[in-house]
Amino acid sequence: MGVIPSPAVGFPAPEPGLAAALLRGAGDVAGLFAVARRLRDEGKGRVVTYSPKVFCPLTTLCRDRCAYCTFAAPPGAGGRYLEPEEALDLARRGAALACTEALLTLGDRPEDRWPAAREFLDRHGCASTPDYVALIARAVVEEAGLFPHANPGVLDEVEVAALRPWCASMGLMLENISPRLMEPGMPHHGCPDKDPARRMAALRAMAAQRVPLTTGVLVGIGETPEELADSLFALAGLAAETGAVQEVIVQNFRAKAGTPMSRAAEPTPQYLARVAAVARWVLGAEMNLQVPPNLTDRFEVYLDAGVNDWGGVSPLTPDWVNPEAPWPHLGELRARTEAAGFRLRTRLPVYPGFLGPEWCDPELLPRLRAAADDGGYALTSPPGDAVS
Ligand code: SF4
Repeated sequence: MGVIPSPAVGFPAPEPGLAAALLRGAGDVAGLFAVARRLRDEGKGRVVTYSPKVFCPLTTLCRDRCAYCTFAAPPGAGGRYLEPEEALDLARRGAALACTEALLTLGDRPEDRWPAAREFLDRHGCASTPDYVALIARAVVEEAGLFPHANPGVLDEVEVAALRPWCASMGLMLENISPRLMEPGMPHHGCPDKDPARRMAALRAMAAQRVPLTTGVLVGIGETPEELADSLFALAGLAAETGAVQEVIVQNFRAKAGTPMSRAAEPTPQYLARVAAVARWVLGAEMNLQVPPNLTDRFEVYLDAGVNDWGGVSPLTPDWVNPEAPWPHLGELRARTEAAGFRLRTRLPVYPGFLGPEWCDPELLPRLRAAADDGGYALTSPPGDAVS
């Protein structure tokens, strides 16, 4: 494991046993929140960011079977690829609303399970789903002027390198470091792409190709506080070792009708806030820490736990992973963030600290710089967002 960032004065250094205890609500929880806020203020000031995006569900076919998922579906039950024109239409409509990010989200390796997926890829001259992602990402950049942030699943380094010229950043949630969650009866049983060792290897492949990375934990899928603490320390280690992690998401599980976990308890906002505060303490002042604002009614509670980002928010498209949870209107997001004492800024899918030649392909860097102000934030904001 790499070097863990130094602790704030007056609070113990991050350590997995103490992190698990704090997650359980034991110990100096009030002190933890104070440290989380102080670290955020030291590293990020009073600026909170979001990325105006369109959500592009590139394929809802998947070879995995996560017990909480409604995004993936079989062929004939809604599972399909977006045709290139459909993806481009979304991107163009997003561009017309001053969105800068095209979130390309997809199921993992559907061609390994579904003949219909293989036929689609053959028809479009693609050897694999990552090939199709590259095809669409390039068109999104060249024809719509948006910057793809791809959630491409588990890739190797060659596949990452092929995507890098057209994907400004990439994301892969670790979700949890525990292989126990793949055992029979657990949410990742039958999901080869949820093997935490494979996911860590894929994150390292992205980092090795100098791609700005988004990753994170999914909270409430049957993990123990110890497993959640270990996951946060694994991400802190990855960040310290590679320098490639630009943001970490703390995301809450939502129980969805029609899934094996439809009756599972969801984490409370109080617990998720505690997770966010522990994440800030473990990850340090400089990390961008995000909680999605559409999965909790009173999302401001996470500002008290040290977060500094709301992630991608769309004025156009639903959250296809949580379609029951609309994003807040951008004007409301601004008003509520500012009422809590912060300045809301729009950002690109690449954070300001990663906007340079080490992290951005020469194809994309001039376009990204042209879309950014002197501080590296997005030059424009969607019309629904009153102040830039
Ligand atoms: S890998 Fe993703 S898309 Fe596939 S079943 Fe799991 S959560 Fe759904």
